[in-house]
Amino acid sequence: MALPFARALESGDLPSIRRAPKAEYHRHHYFGTRIENAERWLGRALDRPVFPMRGLKEMEDYAGRALYPYLRSREACEYIARAAVEEAIEDGVRRLEMSFDVRSASHFGTGIEGFSSAIRKLAERHRERIELRPELGIPREYVGGGEMVRRAHAGIESGVFRSIDLYGDENACSSNAVIPLYEHARSAGMKLKAHLGEFGGAERVRETAEALGLDEVQHGIAAAESVDVMRWLSRNRIRLNVCPSSNVMLGAAASLAAHPIRTLFDNGVEVTVNTDDPMIFGHSVSREYLNLFEAGVFSAAELDAMRIASIAGQP
Ligand SMILES: [Zn+2]
Repeated sequence: MALPFARALESGDLPSIRRAPKAEYHRHHYFGTRIENAERWLGRALDRPVFPMRGLKEMEDYAGRALYPYLRSREACEYIARAAVEEAIEDGVRRLEMSFDVRSASHFGTGIEGFSSAIRKLAERHRERIELRPELGIPREYVGGGEMVRRAHAGIESGVFRSIDLYGDENACSSNAVIPLYEHARSAGMKLKAHLGEFGGAERVRETAEALGLDEVQHGIAAAESVDVMRWLSRNRIRLNVCPSSNVMLGAAASLAAHPIRTLFDNGVEVTVNTDDPMIFGHSVSREYLNLFEAGVFSAAELDAMRIASIAGQP
């Protein structure tokens, strides 16, 4: 018999933890399933990442060498999306906000139509078991080029995507460069998110969240450096979708035990627990909850309250 979530955390009962309903708000589609699944599908072994890595650059170098050469195709793109959704269902995830990178649309012909229609079908196929909320993802490095931004505007028009996210090097483009895109997304009723405060500072979290009118921040952990910024986030009810393992493995946090998610929580900032990139970091959401408990960051009751808040209501 499955134990209730809090009891399951206390006894390290991962199968019971997995059975409890949960939500995830920060996962990238292209690394959205575990590497073992990709290997099974490819019928070949892939080089495993070695941790800790020094930031996004080292992660990109690894992916460019070990993953992308084998996974750049429409078939791979569709397989990973399917496997990510199935894996999430098995992990008890009932709502998944997963970002689909505009670059991946290149595998589906010239426009965004084939890409968005495949994503719509995937969401429909699984809607009895999971609410898949597709998110439109844009790397900051591609904002200047024009083509990806045009594609992103077309993605907004497709009506398939429920939220928008911006990621990559926080210095690669200014907030001003994406304001028209974010205004378009807002007028289409989409939720506005961006990666911030993973490697950048607390003030930039506030400045960018203000400039773009963000509803939520992906990571945002640097906010813990400033009581002022944490108060501002809390007052404006801007939630941080945190990925603890990712932060430790990329060197954005010193250790799980010292992860700033505790400081954020203690200062009234709403947080959720997420995986980021299961293909790189190897964890499920259930495992992330258990790791936080085992590292002594939160009590079982606190994690249970966090889990319940994440699936309650619309956000
Ligand atoms: Zn991310």
